[in-house]
Amino acid sequence: MTTTDTLARALGADRVLRDVPLAPYTTFRIGGPADLFFEARSADELANAVLAARKTGVPYFVLGLGANILVGDRGFRGLVIRNVASTHAFDADGRLRTDSGATMKELIIDAVRNGWSGFEHYVGIPSTVGGAIWQNLHFLSPAPERERTMFIAEVFESCEILSEEGERKTVGPEYVKFGYDDSVFHHRRDVVLSATFRLQRGDPAAMHRVMQENLSWRGSRHPWLDYHPSAGSIFKKIEGVGAGRLVDQCGLKGRRVGDAQISHIHANILVNLGGATAADVRELIALAQGAVKERFQHSLEPEIGFIGEF
Ligand SMILES: Cc1cc2nc3c(=O)[nH]c(=O)nc-3n(C[C@H](O)[C@H](O)[C@H](O)COP(=O)(O)OP(=O)(O)OC[C@H]3O[C@@H](n4cnc5c(N)ncnc54)[C@H](O)[C@@H]3O)c2cc1C
Repeated sequence: MTTTDTLARALGADRVLRDVPLAPYTTFRIGGPADLFFEARSADELANAVLAARKTGVPYFVLGLGANILVGDRGFRGLVIRNVASTHAFDADGRLRTDSGATMKELIIDAVRNGWSGFEHYVGIPSTVGGAIWQNLHFLSPAPERERTMFIAEVFESCEILSEEGERKTVGPEYVKFGYDDSVFHHRRDVVLSATFRLQRGDPAAMHRVMQENLSWRGSRHPWLDYHPSAGSIFKKIEGVGAGRLVDQCGLKGRRVGDAQISHIHANILVNLGGATAADVRELIALAQGAVKERFQHSLEPEIGFIGEF
């Protein structure tokens, strides 16, 4: 029996799928098959799947909504654990305890309905809780009275992790070390199982206004995901300059490689016009990097993760 067979058996033969195309599980709608694919429906299942993969030595990847990654055309050799564990509840003081596979969308809807404020700023951003903590989800609020970048770290209290060493424990912000597009989870193979956030009492009408404003702002400046699949911003922020502005000044808006295109409305977003491959996206990234380097001597660094075989 191969190690993948042993792992599939450990997770339950009926729960582990083989050769599953990953494109539908990413917002880019790009990516080849995972050898093994398992949906974790609870924090315990997530922890057990990771432990089983580690024990058998099979490479694994924890997938949220796939909104910040590009999966290679040849897919992933190992186990993809799609995290759909989403049980969550608010207590009377505004503490939200949630599994890490809950989506920001479902949490925002529940929080606003119950009059808890703090999450509504992130409306329209595809993310699970795990992905949001992984990269310290943020949003530059467009409204004049609150024009600043807001970070998920501001409402974070603690999270339960399965550590790189296999220990389950609860950790606070001092452990997570939130930064801009950064947290300890970029640097350690810990997995976030669940999290606790602290929200404030808020007026649902005011929260709905924030949501409308943010969605309108997004709608007019970013390609619409349903029609133009993407992974959001491709390149890391360049302080005071703007990666997208540099790409734009190179005259690259609308430039295509295959079905991958630099968006006409936001030069830091690459969209899939329907049949784009990961190879197309990588070529377009390299093209933009080359042009910006030559003209402005700036090195554009991708902010998305490259997963699997290209
Ligand atoms: C249209 C669009 C707009 C966007 N706008 C914004 C924006 O305004 N602000 C912003 O900050 N981002 C934005 N993004 C990027 C994206 O939404 C965020 O990075 C989001 O947090 C990704 O979450 P995810 O669940 O999809 O993670 P994935 O893309 O599935 O995973 C990203 C990384 O997180 C890791 N990960 C996921 N879950 C866990 C876990 N439980 N434990 C440990 N590691 C985990 C994965 O292994 C992977 O390395 C945008 C993306 C799109 C497509």
